[in-house]
Parts: sequence; structure tokens; C-alpha cells
Amino acid sequence: MITVSTFAGKTVAVFGLGKSGVSAALALQAGGAEVWAWDDNESARHAAKEKGVSVADLDALNWDICATLVMSPGVPFKLPAPHPVAEHALAHGCEIVGDIELLYRAQGEAKFIGITGTNGKSTTTALLGHVFRECGWRTEIGGNLGTPALDLSPLNDGGAYVLECSSYQLDLCPGFSPNISVLLNISPDHLERHGNMEGYIAAKKQIFENQSSEDVAILGVDDGYSTEIYEDLIANRHQRVVAVSGVRVVAGGVYAVDGQLVDDLNCNHVTVLDLRDAVALPGVHNHQNAAAAYAVARLSGLSADAICRAVVSYPGLAHRQERVDQINGVLFINDSKATNPDAAAKALDSYLDIYWIAGGRAKDAGFGALSSHIDNVRHAYLVGEAADQLGQFLGELVPCHHSGDILVATQQAHHQATQDQNPGSVVLFSPACASFDQFPNFEVRGDFFKQCVDGLVQTHVNKAPAKGGVA
Ligand code: ADP
Repeated sequence: MITVSTFAGKTVAVFGLGKSGVSAALALQAGGAEVWAWDDNESARHAAKEKGVSVADLDALNWDICATLVMSPGVPFKLPAPHPVAEHALAHGCEIVGDIELLYRAQGEAKFIGITGTNGKSTTTALLGHVFRECGWRTEIGGNLGTPALDLSPLNDGGAYVLECSSYQLDLCPGFSPNISVLLNISPDHLERHGNMEGYIAAKKQIFENQSSEDVAILGVDDGYSTEIYEDLIANRHQRVVAVSGVRVVAGGVYAVDGQLVDDLNCNHVTVLDLRDAVALPGVHNHQNAAAAYAVARLSGLSADAICRAVVSYPGLAHRQERVDQINGVLFINDSKATNPDAAAKALDSYLDIYWIAGGRAKDAGFGALSSHIDNVRHAYLVGEAADQLGQFLGELVPCHHSGDILVATQQAHHQATQDQNPGSVVLFSPACASFDQFPNFEVRGDFFKQCVDGLVQTHVNKAPAKGGVA
């Protein structure tokens, strides 16, 4: 855990006692601050108290003496309407920050890498963390991914923080200035929280706001919004600005074309890696993530060879196009994190012969976004509430089974894929739907799919003829 000593002897309010709020309160208390921590939810307050947090009603706080309000990223403090606690703080000129800002202030000697974007943040953060560690660097990985910022280890005496930063978190980072900032891509998301696209883009741009001439800004240029920010930074700012792409040549940057990763940082177009060897990073979207991680690592001083070795050995994250197992040449992929059609489309574009398990609770926008991504689907196995709706959408285009649940779907998909014997066929669980009709969350759903595959593996092993000579 980090000790935040910058507020020693001062009064600090902490609002929102989830994982990151509790860790912020404890880090501030350990550093000698007088903490008033609160949550509107009684059970959250109770759980925080059990962990040693000094819980106190913020209605009784004298805001005039409060140095800072630490907000959980999930609590709105601007739009759609500021939470009353944020209104009190703003009315008294009290700054509002989040846990990443506190980590930055407490561990300013460490190297900071901040990674944001609408999609690919977790993958790029985990990949870069893996690269740094494989190259022998002391590295802490967290933020929006996994461990909250203030539960990471101190690195003031050397090392790098690789932090996934959501737009909500960046809104709470007025002074955060990563040595290298990455913006992967932007598409409309979280608009209710940021008001409109301008508000969302402004939050994302915050990751570059405080950078100086020694720092680097890395931007994906595969969508219009990010490209506009890239051009604006090039024209108006003084930090080094580098473009990355998963699909096209970008002069002076890092890019992948047809799966070949090219380093043009020194303007000499060196092909450094065939990304087909990075089996945990299939698809052009992952090639953008690989290009971004490579650019950060290279600009941090690591050698191309060492980075590429580490990219190839990256094991992937659970539930994101995760390789589960292979039975008789059929590969099983768990992409349970694909809770909407856009995410499933990425996976559907990544494989050739697909036996697709999909369904769950449909999102309001329907399945239209999938229309141009189903060419490689040989059969679809439909589950959950959305099975009928998906069946109607797929219509005559793809043969469908109404399998009902994931266990039956996995067995049917395996059976068909084994019969068809297409080389390189994939049973892809990429639901394009939320999990809540049958599971508490996408993680439990993905774990269940993996259990189903394990069951098939066991059956397969039991059926296999015993090794050894025949008498
Ligand atoms: P995030 O942390 O931003 O939600 P993840 O790395 O967890 O992103 O990936 C979630 C999903 O987003 C993936 O399953 C994939 O469908 C999609 N995705 C990943 N990387 C990218 C990218 N660079 N561009 C577009 N979509 C992506």
C-alpha cells in the first residue's frame, strides 16, 4: 500500500467507499491526514469501518478547513448532476481529485505511463506491464484494471507504474502528468456522464494536459476523433507526439499492416514482428494495442528484440479472446467480455472458421452492428434471452441452433466443428450481449464456459485409446 503523506495534519474528505475509496482513505490516514470518509450506502460504510477507515458523516464537516475531496470515479461530480457532496466542495473552493492523482503526488519520483481510450485499455496496460516485467523492470500495473492505484507498491526508489485510466478517473486528475501518455481510440461512450462527445473527449485529453517537453504522447489514429486530437497536439503542443495504427502506415510512428509490426520511430520502417506469433493478440484491434505497447516500451529505452520476445509470450487477459484449450484441432476461445455487438464484431473478424456461441441479455441497439462481421461464421449456437432476436437477425445468413444454455451450446459447437474438420476452426464464445439473464457478471459467465470446455477435455481424454503396445 502507498502512504500518502502530502496531506499530513490536514482534513481530507473521501466520498465513495468501494475498493478505490477504501484504499485512498487508508493511504491518507497512514500519511497522517484527518480523514472523513463516507458513502451513501450503509453496508459500504460498515465494511469500510471494519477495515479501519475513519467513517464520518460529511454533513457535519466544516468544508472551509477541508483541503481536498477524494471522489470515487463512479460518483458523478459534474454531469448529469453533481452529487451534493461535490457541490459542497466546489462551493467552498475545495479541490476534487481521485486516487490516481494521489498516487502521482505521493510517488512523483517513479516513471508513470497512463493508458486511456474507449477500447483496449486493459489489454494494452496488461501487455505493456508484461513487457516491462519480462525486460526486468520493476513495474506496478493497476488503476482501472485490477489493483486500485493506492494499493500498488511504492516505486519512488525506481520503477514504473503502468496505469489504465478511465475517462471518469481522468476527470479527477487535475495535476497528473504521465511521462508517457497513450490514447488508443475514441468512439461514443459514457455520454450521460460527460454530457456529450465534447465532454467525453475533454476527459480523455486530460491525459496529455500537464505533459512537458520531456514527455511523450502516443495516439492511435484509426478513428476520426483520435486523429483530430493527434493533429491538434502536433500543431499546438511541445511534447513528443507519436502516432500508432493497427491498420495503416503512419510516418514516424509504430504500425501494423497485414499483421506485420513496423517500427518507424527513426523513420526507417523496420519490420520487427509478425503478429501472428503473438497468439494472445488476434485481430487488427489487438494490433493497435500491440503497436501502442511497443511504442511505449521502445521510447522507454528497451530494445526491439526484447520487446518483441515479450509481446510473443504475453499470455492475454481472462475473458478477452482468451485461449481456453484445443481439442482435436478445434480451438476454444472465451470472449465473455464482449457484452455488446461492437466488441463481438472484433472477435468475429479475428478468426476464419467460427462456431459462434452468442446470446444473453440484448443491448437496446440490437445486432445491426454485426451485419458485416458474420462471413466467417459456419454455425451459430444461441443462448439466453436474446436467442430469438439473434436468430431473426441471422435469418438465412447463418445456420443457427437454439441451444438454450452455454453447456449445450459448447457441446453442439464442438460436435459440429469436429465433424466439419476445417483446419483452424474455432469455437468462439463471444456473446454480444450482457450476462445478467443467466449470470451475475461476465466473469462468472466466462468461467462457466471454461468449465464446459474442461468437461469436453475430460471426456476426450477418457475416450482416447490408452497409450502403449497392443498385445
Ligand atoms: P477496455 O479496458 O478499454 O474495456 P479491453 O482491453 O478490456 O478494453 O478490451 C475489451 C474489448 O474491446 C475487447 O474484447 C475487444 O472487443 C475490444 N477492443 C480491444 N482493443 C481494442 C482496440 N484497440 N480497438 C477497438 N476495440 C478493441
